Amino acid sequence: MTQTRAYRVCPLCEAGCGLEITLSGDRVEKIRGDQQHPMSQGFCCPKGIALKDLHTDPDRLRTPMIKENGSFREAGWDEALRLVESNLARIREESGNDALALYLGNPNTHTMAGGLFIRPLVKALRTKNFYSASTVDQMPKMAACGWIYGNPGRIPVPDVDRTDLFVVFGANPFVSNGSLMTAPDFPGRVRALQARGGQMIVIDPAETRTAQAADRHLFIRPGTDVYMLCAIIHVLFAQELVSTRHLADLIDPGDIADLKDAVSEWTPAAAESVCRVPADEITRLARQIAEADKCAVYGRMGTSTVRHGTLCSWLIEAVNILTGNLDRQGGTGFARPAHVPDGSIPKKGFATGRWHSRVSGAAEVAGELPAALMAEEMETPGDGQIRSLITIAGNPVVAVPESQRLDAALAKLDFMVCVDYYINETTRRADVILPPASLLCHGHYDFFFHGLSVRNFAAYSPPVLEKAPGEKDKWEILAHLTHIASGRGAAADPGQVADQILGGLAENLIRAMGGPEKAGVTRDDLIGMLSGRRGPERILDFLLRIGPYGDNFGLKPDGINFDRLSASPHGMDLGPLSSWIEKALATPDGKIHLFPQQLRSAMAQIKTPARTGRPEKRTLELIGRRHLRTNNSWMHNIPALSKNNPCTLQVHPDDAGALGLENGDFAEITSDAAGICAPVEITEQIMPGVVSLPHGWGHDMEGVQMRVASQNPGVNTNRLTPGEVDWLSATAVLNGIAVAVAKS
Ligand code: SF4
Repeated sequence: MTQTRAYRVCPLCEAGCGLEITLSGDRVEKIRGDQQHPMSQGFCCPKGIALKDLHTDPDRLRTPMIKENGSFREAGWDEALRLVESNLARIREESGNDALALYLGNPNTHTMAGGLFIRPLVKALRTKNFYSASTVDQMPKMAACGWIYGNPGRIPVPDVDRTDLFVVFGANPFVSNGSLMTAPDFPGRVRALQARGGQMIVIDPAETRTAQAADRHLFIRPGTDVYMLCAIIHVLFAQELVSTRHLADLIDPGDIADLKDAVSEWTPAAAESVCRVPADEITRLARQIAEADKCAVYGRMGTSTVRHGTLCSWLIEAVNILTGNLDRQGGTGFARPAHVPDGSIPKKGFATGRWHSRVSGAAEVAGELPAALMAEEMETPGDGQIRSLITIAGNPVVAVPESQRLDAALAKLDFMVCVDYYINETTRRADVILPPASLLCHGHYDFFFHGLSVRNFAAYSPPVLEKAPGEKDKWEILAHLTHIASGRGAAADPGQVADQILGGLAENLIRAMGGPEKAGVTRDDLIGMLSGRRGPERILDFLLRIGPYGDNFGLKPDGINFDRLSASPHGMDLGPLSSWIEKALATPDGKIHLFPQQLRSAMAQIKTPARTGRPEKRTLELIGRRHLRTNNSWMHNIPALSKNNPCTLQVHPDDAGALGLENGDFAEITSDAAGICAPVEITEQIMPGVVSLPHGWGHDMEGVQMRVASQNPGVNTNRLTPGEVDWLSATAVLNGIAVAVAKS
């Protein structure tokens, strides 16, 4: 059979590498990196290659599943959707909107459906109980940037391709290829940095692959980055190294003075006593950051999912601002995605706490409540108790703290519906599972990650394969759920939701132009000019046309539209990050809020010890880790990705010696929440006093139907996390957990 080639962006992680897919008919023969993709230039990781195995995985669901008498059976779409409709309507009728909860997993951000069709569903559900993986991951960064720059989506990214000094706190982009930083082939980008005479410095409790490649690595005690960042800022002030350069007019001088006061006690020596980073190293790093011509400071999970994650995220921005590196070539900057028109984000600032969780009173952040508190909202009787849960591409039983408690709470729900490919630790509790068609059957555009790219870029990938008869695209499933939640019913045409999204966008544009008469065009005129399939593609065409590089519906003939982007199978390079902060800022006064009011009292209280649990009993601190071959919990059913199970407890030789542990022993790890057993790996790549387990494992639960994953299950580290929350950003504390370790 003749072989053909298709090109598409990998939808598995934020890097968005270009893939070249060789096909014989509808059979995928081979996947490799696309040499002509401007961002990844042939790079791809083992997960991208394994997209072929995900497509053919016999455990991947192809039809809806309905649970009957405790077992799943295959069902048709009409039956499954009708069951969802009747149960959601019943529960809402009996208990109100808040009885229906929604949880979104991380893969939603990698689909066009997730980029466009979640918002209408959330609106139709009218529930306060909206949760997502954001509150076990990046919400601290979103909240901090929301307060500083006016919108939680305005997150600066490091200009790694042009910087001289890249400083990384608590992140491992050598295996993630960037997180809240789309940087495919991150190792290649660092090699290029070092080849041009630049440096990368890593601060991390583990000597990760990123730390191994760094010019300098400093071990830091988990959860204490906040103190080190304060000390860096202290040095910048004490040694008169603050220079806001081109940003000076955008910052209130009172904020600078107040920030100086707030860090005055955090000398490098004071920070050393908490962080275990030598004071002279902190001073040296602060000077290097200030004296580098171009520097970008970046932090991720190790600075986010800790007790002071929001403060850490803010302080990282503050370092970049105080050294004049924000919005500067080689510093950090705001990407300018092709689908976001300039000025489309209203300059109204960012507010949290518009509602609160019922049991603990946690403030809503960016429309979400803390995923770590979902279980108590299900367990606690009263008005607003969660009785039903919709999960979309999420596995909260593995992903959120106190996972055993959440699992027990899910078992008692009245009704649960999951949009998912697998019967996993969470979906095994569902009454109905609705599986989308294979990822290779969807069109793809990165609505989220083009806005976090280290270089401006746009790519649209058409479906590589046709859906099998009876399969549904994910956007169609979300549209069905939206119809159900809004009362239009399971049988309503999913295309209507797509049309409503498009109609709303067109109406907003006409309104912004002063109405149809002034604009000389109606919404239907605009919609009539669009191309692309009915659904996400037509909406994308609209957004591209009015975006910063768009053809403006023909007024800019050289501009981008869907047809032009589709005709570029390797994507379109839109240039390096550029300086546009005055347009990018979404604060009401158009300024950078260097020291947001919302953070001031928290900043005054950071003397609180960083450790969770009871230090006198638990002498070690647990952190997570990530591996190249895994992505959270959902790729462990692929033999090529899971054959060498890395789910070990890493222990430093000094601690192993004191505990009488040897390589391969099983250790019992106990926190205030639970105890689990894991095999021991003794390594100097972890600092003394710290132990590490990867997240996303624990596939040995009864009812999981992932045969490969179940044979090689690993342990769920979130059984140990105690459900503590960084209240400022509603985010779970996953790192720096106090544990005791003993030979099992
Ligand atoms: S790094 Fe991410 S985007 Fe690139 S191939 Fe791997 S999984 Fe896909």
